[in-house]
Amino acid sequence: MNSAVGPGMVVLIHYTLRDPQGEVIDSSMQSHPLEYLHGAGNIVVGLEKALTGSKVGERKRVKVAAKEGYGEARPDAIHAFPRGAFPQEMELQPGMQFSAEAENGQVMTVWVHSVEGENVMIDFNHPLAGMELDFEVQIEGVRAASQEEIAHGHPHGHHH
Ligand code: ZN
Repeated sequence: MNSAVGPGMVVLIHYTLRDPQGEVIDSSMQSHPLEYLHGAGNIVVGLEKALTGSKVGERKRVKVAAKEGYGEARPDAIHAFPRGAFPQEMELQPGMQFSAEAENGQVMTVWVHSVEGENVMIDFNHPLAGMELDFEVQIEGVRAASQEEIAHGHPHGHHH
């Protein structure tokens, strides 16, 4: 049986993600393939759409526009915080990444955009927001998800 990628399927992929200049941003090739539940928003929507109907062994080059990737970068998502709000020993450099807890308790990754005098400008945009994503994907496996996986919205392949 060679099932096609579609909603309710757990898909195993190897991928390489490049920016529009061709620089590798992320790749599974040096480690394990990525396992995701199709149709559950585990991966960016543009890639999910492009992989629908694919079968094991297929290799695809997929370009995903920002709006179907990590969204457009919003200038109003950059906020100023006083330097004193950060641990003194923390050396704040543009591009530095750390975790912050939103009001709803969700943990998000934020970035130091710049340091302007006593203010630290924090960028709440996803680091890949506004970027066209260039994926190279190889389908390594496709199987039907269990009821539990569908209920949880993620695969239970290796660990929870
Ligand atoms: Zn689970």
